[in-house]
Amino acid sequence: MQEFDLFVIGAGSGGVRCARIAAQNGARVAIAERRHWGGTCVNLGCVPKKLMVYASEYGREAEDAPAYGWDIAAKGYDWQHLIKAKDREIERLNGIYVSMLEKAGVQLFTGNASFVDANTLEISSSDLAPNAEKQIVRAKNIVIATGSSPTRLSIPGAEHAIVSDDIFHLAEQPKRISIIGSGYIGVEFAGIFSGLGSKVDWVYRQDLPLRGFDEELRKHFTEVVSHSEINVHASTHPQKIEKIENGYELFLENGKVIETDCVLMATGRHPNVQSLHVERAGIALKDGYVPTCLEDAKTSVKGIYAIGDVTDNLFNLTPTAIAEGHLLAERLLGEEGREWSFETTPKAVFFTPPVASVGMSEEEAIKHHHNLDIYTSSFTPLRQTLSGRKGKAFMKLVVDTQSQVVLGVHMIGTDAAEIIQGFAVAVTAGLTKRDFDRTIGLHPTSAEEFVTMRTLTRQRNA
Ligand code: NDP
Repeated sequence: MQEFDLFVIGAGSGGVRCARIAAQNGARVAIAERRHWGGTCVNLGCVPKKLMVYASEYGREAEDAPAYGWDIAAKGYDWQHLIKAKDREIERLNGIYVSMLEKAGVQLFTGNASFVDANTLEISSSDLAPNAEKQIVRAKNIVIATGSSPTRLSIPGAEHAIVSDDIFHLAEQPKRISIIGSGYIGVEFAGIFSGLGSKVDWVYRQDLPLRGFDEELRKHFTEVVSHSEINVHASTHPQKIEKIENGYELFLENGKVIETDCVLMATGRHPNVQSLHVERAGIALKDGYVPTCLEDAKTSVKGIYAIGDVTDNLFNLTPTAIAEGHLLAERLLGEEGREWSFETTPKAVFFTPPVASVGMSEEEAIKHHHNLDIYTSSFTPLRQTLSGRKGKAFMKLVVDTQSQVVLGVHMIGTDAAEIIQGFAVAVTAGLTKRDFDRTIGLHPTSAEEFVTMRTLTRQRNA
């Protein structure tokens, strides 16, 4: 039986980082993956999604180009071309993940890992390795990094719907798509399919999309969406889906019935714990998640840790899982571990234009700080002046009145994600509004607005 210092279950972003750092520093490390090397982000999430976002933006650019003197027009769209090109790139990335792990000295197991007891795992066949023989391994430390999967609503006809895992391999582009949910995935795919020319019906139960983001930002985002072709059905619940001759009918609580070719449920994700048998190791799940201590990723059982989406500790985002994996590997090697500022994790939603934030929303900030200075700016970006494209950029600073520390930076507009990554350094460093004010702007950009907001929009008192 093989024995390891560390065995990581799941080769997604967090698991790969943890295994690689530990192995590079001399530990005997193994990792098991049952489905895709690189996990959700590389195979069924961030990377293919972003490629699709890029694809969806060219039509709009072709529409705007004549305003700048170009004699071009988009003649049509080839979905199969995109899917094949995307698959080639993902295959390349899978290979990079495998060779990166091997080079670091990590032993790879392809198959499904489950607990026999707190130090013993069984690796059995999986989709990726259907003929794999069972193997038993032992490890001093085990890291659960199995990620999460999309959740389907339990409404009649739910079996007719697809989830985000399916969208990356659709044989045909749906000409009409109904999207349920207004979180990250719902927003992003509403933008992607609208950009690719599909008729999009977007259904969500809140009055504003993107719950959890700054409310004023959400209002401005709704305004941006109103200039798109997307048909919004807000404040309503989906009730059932029925198959009809030419597609499906989606019935809404408000009485509307939408005819569509495809229903996408973008209604959250749940942790991948089904085949792990954590109970054999003595771990009890909490609301379906593996409970861990936020500080050190420890579960209730000595030597077993969990990171990423399978826990419910942090934002379920790739960079936080990577940071958790890195920190855990360093700590297992006896180091203190580098410092990460999880609370100032920036967030972006890749609509066109994107929405991005770092730090506190106004609603969060007022719970912790008595008085706030709020600065906002809304303007038509220079690029849209010649084309006449509608939809304003919006930028907002949330500042603690007393200390003048900038608590939150929020934006909707072209390159918002790229811009907010830079401002995340400022918020992490605890910089003040005075630091923003003494920074010289970079002209002409949208980003310079963040350092030229001189006039207070309003004060807010608790
Ligand atoms: P989210 O949690 O972001 O959004 C789920 C959506 O489904 C919400 O609109 C929610 O409504 C709605 N919903 C949940 N249950 C029901 C129900 N019973 N009936 C009707 N609507 C319902 O999940 P996503 O699936 O969009 O994304 C999953 C996670 O993946 C994200 O939270 C994020 O961590 C990650 N992700 C990150 C991306 C990025 O960084 N750009 C991109 C994609 C995913 P309500 O708001 O009312 O709860």
